[in-house]
Amino acid sequence: MNQVRAWTLDEGAERARASYRAAFGAEPDGVWAAPGRVNLIGEHTDYNGGLCLPIALAHRTYVALSAVEAADVTLVSRQEAGTWSAALADVGPGAVDGWPAYAAGVAWALGQDGHAVGGFRAAVDSCVPYGAGLSSSAALESAFAIALDDVFGLGLGADDEGRQALAAACIRAENEVAGASTGGMDQAASLLSRPGGALLLDLRDGSRTPIPFDLAAAGLALLVIDTRAPHRLVDGQYGQRRATCEAAAARLGVPTLREVAPAELPSALAALDDVRLPDGSTVPAELVRRRVRHVVTEIGRVEEFVAALTSGAARDVGPLMDASHASLRDDYEVSCPELDVAVEAARAAGALGARMTGGGFGGSAIALVAADQVEDVSESVRAAFVGRGWAEPGTLSATGDGAAARVLDDAGE
Ligand code: ADP
Ligand code: MG
Repeated sequence: MNQVRAWTLDEGAERARASYRAAFGAEPDGVWAAPGRVNLIGEHTDYNGGLCLPIALAHRTYVALSAVEAADVTLVSRQEAGTWSAALADVGPGAVDGWPAYAAGVAWALGQDGHAVGGFRAAVDSCVPYGAGLSSSAALESAFAIALDDVFGLGLGADDEGRQALAAACIRAENEVAGASTGGMDQAASLLSRPGGALLLDLRDGSRTPIPFDLAAAGLALLVIDTRAPHRLVDGQYGQRRATCEAAAARLGVPTLREVAPAELPSALAALDDVRLPDGSTVPAELVRRRVRHVVTEIGRVEEFVAALTSGAARDVGPLMDASHASLRDDYEVSCPELDVAVEAARAAGALGARMTGGGFGGSAIALVAADQVEDVSESVRAAFVGRGWAEPGTLSATGDGAAARVLDDAGE
């Protein structure tokens, strides 16, 4: 089985440091690391003012970094070829291509917020799978955010409020410099998670609530399955779902679908008609109703999921995961064959619940399994993929890890 192992903090720190030494012939000021994340439940709810519930992974991106005299940025990554450098003043929206936009973009965004960030050089290494819906992009941004905060003495990493400001800078880097759209869940998970906890994010009021997440105490484990399916998140699909939700909310006279309580769902559905999207296309009423039903029921499932975790009834989240998957597959239509097969194979092998996670059309699935069945379930999913002639999926186990932090003080410590 293709198990994607998480490096220990020491191992990751040593790798990034060795990389830095090889690239720059010196020791870094330190090494910082930030986790990828997986969303337990609450999918396609962010742009509807809804709820989601990510946990941080033990899989992290490591950055060995030093401040330099010149106002320049020089970057290397073990995951990408070549050395990139630019004057700090030249970093900004539309000015940086490729992966350095996520890294240098954070320095730009902090500068925009009035923080004094000078030149730096850095070496990156990571065990967060790329493009698997586990947010290697936010892990990269967050690792730079916490490193720059520390090296330039911004003092933001010390508390949640400051970390919220770092997350905002990461979001700007991704949206404005890398030109990718992100709702902010990933950066909050990477910068604000606590070990043994999930983070309930409320996109209506911006609040964050730590929720206990201790599956081991219940004899359970969370298996993450990276389907390695090619990312097919056709921009048009995401934009169309979003526009449909916005048009439906407008029709119902509410700012977002969050305002539709589950109990009001039948009357809200009855009030919906065909909607016309800004691109001129028409979405028939029947389809609008299914999209709205997903969003409203999914937000309700996040609340039930949180209630189960909070009352120590971790097993009860299994059926909620199953229902979430069915809703995403049938009502929201964002699943794909690889995600459906991963979920079905996991359940057939004894998982208590399973669902796709992330935006869909590829990426990863998660399964709730008895701790002693992780290997059996992984093997069943692998066999189901190989039997269809698909590439082997990668598997990870997730426990709810801590947020971005410094992992090596300086040379040799
Ligand atoms: P995801 O966040 O789901 O993994 P994205 O497409 O949002 O997928 O982000 C992946 C991109 O982030 C990569 O194509 C690359 O540009 C950048 N990236 C992530 N991790 C690294 C890394 N370790 N080194 C260099 N670039 C990285
Ligand atoms: Mg990403």
